[in-house]
Amino acid sequence: MRYLLAVLLFLSIFAQAQKKPKNTRKTDSVAYYIELSNFNIKTNNYKYSLDFAQKAIDYAHNQRNVKSEAYASSVLGGIYFELKKYDDAIDSYYKSVALYNTLKPSGNQGFCYYQLGLCFMEKENYNSAEANFDKSKTIYTAIKIPDAIELLNLQKGILYKAKGQYKQAIPIFNQIIAKPDHTDITQTKAEALYQMGNIELINERSNLALNYLSRSLAINERNKNPEQKAKILLALSKAYDKLLNTEKAFYFLKKHLGLKDSLAALNSKKLGVEDYVEFKDNERLKTIEQLDRENKEQQKANKVAKLISILAIALISILSLLSLSLYKNNIIRNQSNQLLKEKNSELQIAKEKAEKASKARAEFLSTVSHELRTPLNAINGITHLLLEENPKPSQMNYLNSLKFSGNYLLTFINEILEINRIESSAVETEYINFDLKLLLSNIQHSLKELAGINNNTFSVEIDPSIPDYLVGDPTKLSQIFLNLINNALKFTKNGEVKVILQTNELNEEFTSIHFRIVDTGIGIPQEKLETVFESFSQGSIEINRKYGGTGLGLTIVKKLIEIMGGKIHLESEVGKGSTFYFDLSFRIGHDQSHLEAQSLDYDDSVLDGKKVLLIEDNKINQMITKKMVENKGMICEVIDNGEDAIEAVKNNKYDLVLMDVHLPGINGTIATQTIRTFDKKTKIVALTAISLNENREMLLSYGMNDVLTKPFDPNDFYRVLSQTVSKKA
Ligand code: ADP
Repeated sequence: MRYLLAVLLFLSIFAQAQKKPKNTRKTDSVAYYIELSNFNIKTNNYKYSLDFAQKAIDYAHNQRNVKSEAYASSVLGGIYFELKKYDDAIDSYYKSVALYNTLKPSGNQGFCYYQLGLCFMEKENYNSAEANFDKSKTIYTAIKIPDAIELLNLQKGILYKAKGQYKQAIPIFNQIIAKPDHTDITQTKAEALYQMGNIELINERSNLALNYLSRSLAINERNKNPEQKAKILLALSKAYDKLLNTEKAFYFLKKHLGLKDSLAALNSKKLGVEDYVEFKDNERLKTIEQLDRENKEQQKANKVAKLISILAIALISILSLLSLSLYKNNIIRNQSNQLLKEKNSELQIAKEKAEKASKARAEFLSTVSHELRTPLNAINGITHLLLEENPKPSQMNYLNSLKFSGNYLLTFINEILEINRIESSAVETEYINFDLKLLLSNIQHSLKELAGINNNTFSVEIDPSIPDYLVGDPTKLSQIFLNLINNALKFTKNGEVKVILQTNELNEEFTSIHFRIVDTGIGIPQEKLETVFESFSQGSIEINRKYGGTGLGLTIVKKLIEIMGGKIHLESEVGKGSTFYFDLSFRIGHDQSHLEAQSLDYDDSVLDGKKVLLIEDNKINQMITKKMVENKGMICEVIDNGEDAIEAVKNNKYDLVLMDVHLPGINGTIATQTIRTFDKKTKIVALTAISLNENREMLLSYGMNDVLTKPFDPNDFYRVLSQTVSKKA
């Protein structure tokens, strides 16, 4: 029996070892506990052996390692079997096979069924034993372990014998007995011989029985299995008894009893009753604890599952709400977007309308003022000519009034035109290298006369740290100074007008300058300080009547300063005077005086005898300009269109060409451009009532040498002509 056990166990372990890496024994605690359990069996310390087997089961269970738990249970079953506690062994093996049945068929599984069969054999429950042996055989056949199948056959033989089915049993035993002697098979062979001896005893063939039993005892001597020996001795005693050999019967019986006693003593030593009871109690307690623990774990798992469900529901609800609000938001956003789009297109239309209106207004103003300038040229020109021709003293007054009115109208138109240009954004800052000190000295020079009229002192104070040359827009700066100083001199009598320039900041590249125009004149009332900068705003009607003016000067000044990046401020007290101040920044320039050296003064004697070609389509303007030209001893030829003018310049030599810009057919700019393709020397001066789209720079770019704005100021007219004629080509 033991032999079978050992072989099957070996086969099972071998099958396992094939699948497991060797080093797992060290780290696997189940294997470690089982090793300890086996060791304690060897030292007959079954109490510890049971403990360690149970520890192996617990550990495997906690690790949820089904295979290890099944194996450890079978080990426990094996210990019970050894201790002949067959009911406990059956329990353990049942647990083991229940676990193995959840896995692939294995040698261990087959071994458990085999063990169960043995347990039932011991309990003489042959039906259950057979059923388990059959299950074991099915498994061993499936996993192909033929040796095990042969051993199972032997068990079957024993089973048949036990059931009294000797016919089936005998061939099985004979087959084993016929096998050659081999140490591995001694126990089985001894068993088969013993079984045959028993059968012969039952069959009352005592001599045959004696034969089988003697051979069995002889083989048993080799395998030293005391249990097997004990039963052989008993059978031998029975055989001799039947043969009436009392002496031998008694001898073997005595030997049998002696061996039985020593075996009983050994068995009682294996495990004391108290130890067994204690172990069983512990086992029960453990089972209860385990059930309790599993119950708690289950409850815990249930709680966690419940919590997860609640959280999931909450999450889904939140997500749904979020999606809903996003959806609603989206709808609202789409609606507002639509609304905004509509508003935007409305605004766009309104803006386009406003721009159109503004453009129309600007064009209207431009056209009107341009159209006004042409007749005004006639009025001013003829007035000038009449005044030149020694009129009667009685006519003098009328002519002077006419001159004043003409000049007023001219200033007015010019200023309207200027504001119009600024507002239509046609004005940009220029960046030209200029001499600030020279610019101020020229202004001071030209306003000297005006200062004298009201008996004012007029001075300019310039901070010496201000660089001579700056880069900026001298034309606009002159316009600003002329307007502000003009006002200061106009509204001050017997007083003082000062222009002060101070450095705010200065570095290698830039400077910021503080400008102040201070007067000791009539001042401006507090409530008017803001409004004086608005168009057509004057201090009062009385002031307008007394001092004249259009109410547009400060508007222009304010806008020009803003274009140049500054802001105008005003401090004033009625009766004490006014101060206008502003800051402007400039890049520092360099001396270019050698390039631009030109005198403001002129000598009109250079004009005498010069040959002039005047291109002008308006008959009155032809007459006036021709007269003004001839007054200075020049010879004037008149042509009324650009095409003829080009031919004339090609075929004649002129000292000067006065080219009206607006002509029928090709205009003055194109005519000049064409002339410049074959003649770069002849001086050409443009005559224009500058409109919205024209400016001095634009006209010069066509090849003009200078520009005269209609209506002509006679002084300006002769100065430009003299300077142009004297300039070297
Ligand atoms: P105007 O052509 O009438 O001078 P401005 O726009 O230059 O137009 O000035 C508007 C008004 O501001 C003037 O009519 C005047 O009442 C007041 N004003 C401007 N400068 C001075 C000043 N230096 N002293 C007193 N009043 C001034």
